[in-house]
Amino acid sequence: MHDAKMNDTPLTARSVIGGTEVSHGGHMLDIVNPATGGPAGTLQEADAAEVAEAVRAARTAFDKTDWPRWSVPRRQALLLAIRDKIVEHADKLAHLECIALGVPLKELKARHMLRAAENFRFFAEYIGQARGDLYDQTPGYRTIVTREPVGVAALIAPWNAPVALASMKLAAALAFGNTCVLKPSEQTPFALHLLVRLLHDAGLPDGVVNLVNGRGDVTGAALAAQDGVDLISFTGGTTTGRTIMAEAGRRLVPCTMELGGKSANIVFASADRDRALDAALASIYSNNGQQCLAGSRIFVERAIADDFISDFVARARSIRIGSPTDDSTELGPLATAAHRDRVLEFARTAPQDGVEILTGGGVPGDLRDDISGGHYIEPIAAFAPGNASVVCQQEIFGPFATFQIFDSYNQVISAANNTEFGLVSYVWSDHLPTVERAVRDLRSGVVWVNTTMTRELRAPFGGFKSSGVGREGGEACERFYTEPKTVTVPSSPITPRRMGLS
Ligand code: NAD
Repeated sequence: MHDAKMNDTPLTARSVIGGTEVSHGGHMLDIVNPATGGPAGTLQEADAAEVAEAVRAARTAFDKTDWPRWSVPRRQALLLAIRDKIVEHADKLAHLECIALGVPLKELKARHMLRAAENFRFFAEYIGQARGDLYDQTPGYRTIVTREPVGVAALIAPWNAPVALASMKLAAALAFGNTCVLKPSEQTPFALHLLVRLLHDAGLPDGVVNLVNGRGDVTGAALAAQDGVDLISFTGGTTTGRTIMAEAGRRLVPCTMELGGKSANIVFASADRDRALDAALASIYSNNGQQCLAGSRIFVERAIADDFISDFVARARSIRIGSPTDDSTELGPLATAAHRDRVLEFARTAPQDGVEILTGGGVPGDLRDDISGGHYIEPIAAFAPGNASVVCQQEIFGPFATFQIFDSYNQVISAANNTEFGLVSYVWSDHLPTVERAVRDLRSGVVWVNTTMTRELRAPFGGFKSSGVGREGGEACERFYTEPKTVTVPSSPITPRRMGLS
């Protein structure tokens, strides 16, 4: 950042308003390192007055500077410079993410930071191809539709993939000329703090992106309710999404909601079994099991079920649990002690519902001294007698897989759709007609066929039902972050109706 007011290592996360780190001495929150249970740093909370100041800075940058009218080549150059900064600082960003989140460093570098860099590159290229519309069907007239930036965007992010997810919102908002106030999760403020600094280092004008940190019911609620915010992009839990959308409705502010999931992973007997097994493990246990698109409900066709489930359980038992900074670690600690306890509680109470815990649900016994205070658990796999079980209905958001066995196509599709969520579905089969039918019948915003998570940035991403409202992705973001403007021009002088002459 051009002024040097930010610490080099932002282990106290504060607001960044108008390009400068500020703090009015708000409430201090301790951030715990999930790998050790020890301190990772602190966060100084932005109260409602500080949030209002951040929104005013974004408002000024939108209303009183030339930022919304920057040319496309200039905007593209900035987005690509941001991309380069992320690549250059990927190790540092991953480290800051890791000390608050606990996802293995290797995974953060390889997936999250690359994805963040890619988000900026993608939108730089996208705006080079964007078009307006022309209608000339009405005789004597041409109507063109252009798209303009909307204004000030409130971007509210979750803790499970802070940089990867918030960078999508930032890249899209900036690509289309908006200004922003970003609110990270209070659990994971550090890497996004550095990212905001890198945006400024890359040449972002002051006030275009502002950062506020703090708890959801304090800082987040103040941001969602703040006059001067023109649109809200939210990723997080379904309950929070409902609260924010009600607030947005009160103020008639458009919003996108990327919410929870309880995704079905359906393995037909016609599947490439070994690939499906690898993918089933990765879909539920990567990112420490904390992902909206986790394949948490695994349905296996009876003919292959016994072997498939027992092989899955054997592999789950062999997953390497350990410090997220160790390159061999496959499953790190859960993000907070409270979240670990919540996940373990699901395992403890599941048998009351007829669910059999096949493996996991304890705290690993051989933890080394250096990580013994961390929030580690053994990955869980359970057999559920039916889809109505609590662990098949509630989003656990941890390394918790449930298995169900099915006998027919109709049975599995009906169970897969029997959930309040509809974010993604996974289908494993080499029988094309079965795949085609399932793709048509599954009620989710995304269906992945014979693959794990594969995000196509050009295509819309988001959920049916309680998994969300609106979409993210190339054109979906263009529609959200721009207002269409319709301009009608006659091709020759018109003769208006003449009034008031008598
Ligand atoms: P959360 O809803 O608790 O918090 C998300 C963000 O909202 C945080 O920044 C939080 O501080 C803020 N917040 C909380 N209460 C608020 C309020 N009243 N007003 C304004 N802001 C408020 O979610 P989380 O625990 O951080 O994230 C986990 C959830 O996110 C899971 O349900 C997961 O499925 C979902 N998620 C969805 C996607 C997706 O793309 N659909 C991606 C990642 C995570």
